[in-house]
Amino acid sequence: MIPYGRQDIRDEDIEAVIDCLRSDWLTQGPLLPRFEEAVAAYCGARHAVAVNSGTAALHVACLALGLGPGDWLWTSPLTFVASANCALYCGARVDFVDIEPESGLMSVARLAEKLATAERSGSLPKIVVPVHFAGASCDMAAIHELAQRYGFRILEDAAHALGGRYRGEAVGCCRYSDVTIFSFHPVKLITTGEGGMAVTNDAELARKMALLRSHGITREPAEMAETPEGPWYYQQVMLGFNYRLTDIQAALGLSQLGRLDEYVARRTALAERYAALLADLPIALPVCPEWAVSAWHLYLIRVAPARRRELFETLRAAGIGAQVHYIPVHRHPYYQALGFRAGDFPNAEAFYAGALSLPLFPMLSEAEQDRIIAVLQENLA
Ligand SMILES: *Cc1c(COP(=O)(O)O)cnc(C)c1O
Repeated sequence: MIPYGRQDIRDEDIEAVIDCLRSDWLTQGPLLPRFEEAVAAYCGARHAVAVNSGTAALHVACLALGLGPGDWLWTSPLTFVASANCALYCGARVDFVDIEPESGLMSVARLAEKLATAERSGSLPKIVVPVHFAGASCDMAAIHELAQRYGFRILEDAAHALGGRYRGEAVGCCRYSDVTIFSFHPVKLITTGEGGMAVTNDAELARKMALLRSHGITREPAEMAETPEGPWYYQQVMLGFNYRLTDIQAALGLSQLGRLDEYVARRTALAERYAALLADLPIALPVCPEWAVSAWHLYLIRVAPARRRELFETLRAAGIGAQVHYIPVHRHPYYQALGFRAGDFPNAEAFYAGALSLPLFPMLSEAEQDRIIAVLQENLA
């Protein structure tokens, strides 16, 4: 089966991990800050805090931004559930802003409308989480302008977009946001097995996220409530978690990061090849807004909803692991129990109804891609 996404592990990655296993440190050793500094430098952000998943990064970012009971977090309905669950972990409430029908990105026009309504009813969000769907950045300058006007914080979910760009700058530079998070799950742009990172230009947010990652415990005398009793002293100053990324994972991440640009270039070339060879079929090809250079996490076409299931099954029967991104978050039973209903976010629901993600990963060969294209041509032309 050709999967829809797959990691690329090379000998140099394996050697980096073995070197770590032979070293003195398996967790929170010297490789962790090196990996953090390398990702921060890549993005052009000042600080980075590595954690053990993208989900954990969303959670510590929300807590550091002060999200709690009584607060609202708004995100896109067309995303992985983690973008919304992070609010519920903090005891806050979630709502969604519908997408642009072609790009799948949060609609800034809908956001503006919804903010105006929320202002009248006194229910403005504390945090808005734009999701850089499939690898293309949302219109961050426009969202930032709304944040200035309505006073919310911005947490970019860039799980799909490490290596992507927005108006000439790397996604993660946080020019228009408070925090940006990445995921290093094996299908994402680079992998550490499981893993994630939060980047920010705000030293205080970085300090809080680093505390939350490790039980809320500090060894810095300056952060303690009173003078340390001795050199062994540490204090728990807030309620944190064990969300630490291991040095073993940081070794893999550092090694992978060295090939990120190569990966994005390969994904882009394959995406262009799909676009050229699928152009005549009755399907909608992915749309990347003019402000973004996509990292091409996903290659997502849209077909007639009535034919999606059959096509999905035909591809699977041919050994092609197509996938569907995403069941809109508000359609899951857990969210229905919170009061959301079918029809609440019609653009996301319509997008989902025809969505089909084709295999796209750096080691996908052109011969494999030709096989995928041939099956689509046989069934759609
Ligand atoms: C993968 C993903 C996450 C969560 O990342 P994990 O590392 O799997 O916890 C969050 N948001 C989006 C959009 C994702 O695709």
